[in-house]
Amino acid sequence: MNTTVIPAVEMEFPLLELRDVSKTYRSGSLEVEALRGACITIRQGEYVAITGPSGSGKSTLMHLLGCLDSPTSGTYRLAGQDVSTMSEEELADVRNRRIGFVFQQFNLLASLTAGRNVELPLCYAGIRRTERSSMAREALARVGLAHRVEHRPGELSGGQQQRVAIARALVGDPALILADEPTGNLDSTSTTDVLGLLADLHAAGRTIVLITHEADVAAAAQRTVRILDGAICADREHVHGGRHTVPERTTHRAGRTDTPETGETGKTGVQGVRG
Ligand code: ADP
Repeated sequence: MNTTVIPAVEMEFPLLELRDVSKTYRSGSLEVEALRGACITIRQGEYVAITGPSGSGKSTLMHLLGCLDSPTSGTYRLAGQDVSTMSEEELADVRNRRIGFVFQQFNLLASLTAGRNVELPLCYAGIRRTERSSMAREALARVGLAHRVEHRPGELSGGQQQRVAIARALVGDPALILADEPTGNLDSTSTTDVLGLLADLHAAGRTIVLITHEADVAAAAQRTVRILDGAICADREHVHGGRHTVPERTTHRAGRTDTPETGETGKTGVQGVRG
């Protein structure tokens, strides 16, 4: 197994490099060209937002970047290595240890406590139970949820569930965080919290790729890549980026409704993530 893919040190290659990547979904006689000749280079330590309207190909791009799917044509290099040459075992290792995924729907297992949910990637990595448990507690403490380790997702607000999902994404100390609409189900307070956590992860050296259709969320990143009808139509660095507050807005809330998380907001922080 190649364990050198995405090392947490400075690399001579870009971390992610897509060259002329296309993705066509086929079902029967129907074809959808979801990505058309996409070229993107993302260096280690960047914080990039991928933005565009619904149906433009953002999730398709995230699935390719996360090695959850493969391109129809074109090349994807991860830390210099052509992903199409990796074995299933190497790809599974990359997905489990090198990339932390955060999804809009949180994707937590309802029957497991927050602690057990965070432990899951460590189970797949074969880490012993006692070590898993302490690593999960530490990750939950980093996202301000040390007091929610034994709670199940249904007992947590949407914002708290997403913070559990972020703890799960960071517990294995991945070099890359891929977040697909992570604030799509959150109110403005929780959105600010989650963006603050991503900013902390970035400050701790992680590469962040944030998929969003919301301009105010994309503004948290240092760079925005805009996608339209499966093609990259703009790629620009922000003059200023980083921590910001999202204006008040009305959004659907998943999970139990609660009051703004007084006492939790502001206590979160992930600067201690290992490099
Ligand atoms: P976005 O994330 O920007 O909303 P997607 O990447 O989900 O866009 O979708 C891009 C296009 O590909 C859309 O037209 C969508 O309907 C289509 N698409 C996405 N996934 C599939 C699939 N599994 N099979 C067929 N078409 C798909």
